[in-house]
Amino acid sequence: MKKLALHWKIIIGLLLGIIWAYISASFGWSTFTKNWIAPWGEIFINLLKLIAIPLVLFSIIVGISGLSDIKRLGRVGIKTLGIYLLTTVFAVSLGLVLVNVIKPGKYLDENQRIKNRITYELWAQENNIEIKDHRSYLTNPDYTDLVGDASQQYEVEKSLAEVDQDLAKRKQEARRTKEAGPLAFLIDMVPSNIFVSLADNKLMLQIIFFAIFFGVVLLMIDKKKADNVAGIVDGFNEVFLKMVDIVMKAAPFFVFALMAAKLSEMAGDDPKAIQDIIINLGWYSLVVVIGLVFLVFVVYPLIMTRVLKISYTSLFRKISPAQLLAFSSSSSAATLPITMECVNDNLKVPEEVSSFVLPIGATVNMDGTSLYQSIAVIYLAQIHLIDLDMAQQLTIVATATLASIGSAAVPSAGLVMLMIVLDAVGLNPAWIAIIFPVDRILDMMRTVVNVTGDITVSSVIAKSEGFMKK
Ligand code: ASP
Repeated sequence: MKKLALHWKIIIGLLLGIIWAYISASFGWSTFTKNWIAPWGEIFINLLKLIAIPLVLFSIIVGISGLSDIKRLGRVGIKTLGIYLLTTVFAVSLGLVLVNVIKPGKYLDENQRIKNRITYELWAQENNIEIKDHRSYLTNPDYTDLVGDASQQYEVEKSLAEVDQDLAKRKQEARRTKEAGPLAFLIDMVPSNIFVSLADNKLMLQIIFFAIFFGVVLLMIDKKKADNVAGIVDGFNEVFLKMVDIVMKAAPFFVFALMAAKLSEMAGDDPKAIQDIIINLGWYSLVVVIGLVFLVFVVYPLIMTRVLKISYTSLFRKISPAQLLAFSSSSSAATLPITMECVNDNLKVPEEVSSFVLPIGATVNMDGTSLYQSIAVIYLAQIHLIDLDMAQQLTIVATATLASIGSAAVPSAGLVMLMIVLDAVGLNPAWIAIIFPVDRILDMMRTVVNVTGDITVSSVIAKSEGFMKK
């Protein structure tokens, strides 16, 4: 009998995980699931993170020291960043078009929207924020009967925001990013102690910087001595690649555990909660999903099937392990080792390119996140009856692009950075609480887009620079 391909096994694991969560909620087994199944999901993520950092370090050094000339590296680097920026701006613009055309916010009850609008005006008044579209519902005599309700709603919102520690922490995080100077990202990129960077999974850009520096200098020193070092680094690299192989063999089981645990955490012992989460996705989520699906199933394959000269189905067969893992882990950083394996082994993109393009992509290129942020901001404006003008929409393009670059490749990072985008156009950052309930599921999907975007760019770079094997 032919052995079942890995991606099928992972899909089966994923489905079984969903079924298990449903059963577990129906029979009140959520404690069992939490104690005996969830830990396997965590172990899986830990293993992947454990491999990711050394793999990035060693594979970038190996990749660069295998390059014949440094000038080419500079060109490839600039090209990579340029294309990443381009795809992100494209994704944001796609999001804006979708949300402005479909207008998911208009499906909310009109009275509720007016009340929302009044709460917004109260908030703007209290925080000295200028309202760009000048209409006032607060002072309009037609709506006086709604003002009382709205003020009450506003008080509740405010007290909730104060009680919610998580929200306060998130706000602080986002503010810190916003207040940093324009060159702060450069300072953040250059480590003062590489061991500190290696010890923190969030400092991936510092490790990339160090690895590139190390690789380039290796090309500059005496060849005989350089070869000794390169040989050792190459050996280490092989070890970590093999680890990925081994961990992936158990991926279907781990993915089952991840899905079961995550859904059961959301639902507790109430199976209806899972249905509610799915039903309540609503129009807003639908628009986000349309955008994400369009990128994953139309835009990227259109580029990759051309560049790689492979069929649509074969493309997905080759990259689906990385996509499925992105879906179940919600983290591009944790998925990185598998992304690298799929791109090297299945798409035949050489390591010189993938080892460099993919880790950078995982940290800075988030097309799914930027698309989602642009849709979320406009949706939130729509349900508060706020019209954003052209200048504000352009501000969204710029800030969503930057916010997605600044989002860490970990679960929910995009939601936190959304606060910056809201802030930039004078909206209330605390509104992230409104879309919070559906964020987990959208996070899974946008992470698939983030990872697929990186894969696409790596194949474009490999092809255009004449790196492709064969
Ligand atoms: N979870 C996403 C990622 O790791 C980031 C986000 O929250 O949008 O790619």
